[in-house]
Amino acid sequence: MSRKKIVAGNWKMNLDRVKATELAQAVAGRHAEAGSVELVLCPPAAYLTTVGTALGLVHAVSPSGVTLGAQNMHDKASGAFTGEIAPAMLVDVGCSFVILGHSERRTLFGETDGMVNAKTKAALAVGLTPIVCVGETLEEREANRTQAVVTTQINGSLAGLSAADLEKIVIAYEPVWAIGTGKVASPQQAQEVHAIIRGLLGALASPAVAAKVRIQYGGSVKPDNAADLAAQPDIDGALVGGASLKADDFLGIARAFA
Ligand code: PEP
Repeated sequence: MSRKKIVAGNWKMNLDRVKATELAQAVAGRHAEAGSVELVLCPPAAYLTTVGTALGLVHAVSPSGVTLGAQNMHDKASGAFTGEIAPAMLVDVGCSFVILGHSERRTLFGETDGMVNAKTKAALAVGLTPIVCVGETLEEREANRTQAVVTTQINGSLAGLSAADLEKIVIAYEPVWAIGTGKVASPQQAQEVHAIIRGLLGALASPAVAAKVRIQYGGSVKPDNAADLAAQPDIDGALVGGASLKADDFLGIARAFA
């Protein structure tokens, strides 16, 4: 089964308007280096429109094929939720993707699997592709609880989704101990968990559906470690934090998956 590779840049709460524009233009201008790899830029919410404009996005269609994603959203369509952003608003400003359940959202902002599940359904309902993040902490890995933790997160975050919806989502396996630490999971460690996740998707839907779902690895991916990760059969791309802030590094990672 050949799955289209996908490399997404999670800019987190970094850059300013000028730097965000320059980075988006640099990636869009050099997108051909990534070949058939799908590229997604996820700037801070304040710069979604700025980056969408830099990508030349009109109704989510960008001439370069580089698409826009958000880093979070609320699950409700509208209402008295001060400071929150509705799913349809993301579509309105040109997003095709939304990262959900990132470990920073889970640990710093108290997001639970139930909340991620509600957001995943809400994203799908407006046509956004959710990038659903899961991953264990170092303590959990050392206690041999990786499989149990990831199983709970996958089953909880994706509960009640139809096979047709499951097929559309992207999963990001991001071991918390590898995020922003410079400690990348070994290709074998990552592959092992990706295979577990694909097995879980098979049980939730069917092996045929699971074979279509793209599973990214995230956690200290850099141009010099991306090729070994890309060589693993169940690693279909990367969710990149720090290295996505430099066009050279981001595209270097994308090239490894091409
Ligand atoms: C992330 O936060 O999604 C991430 C993978 O960060 P980094 O690449 O910096 O480890």
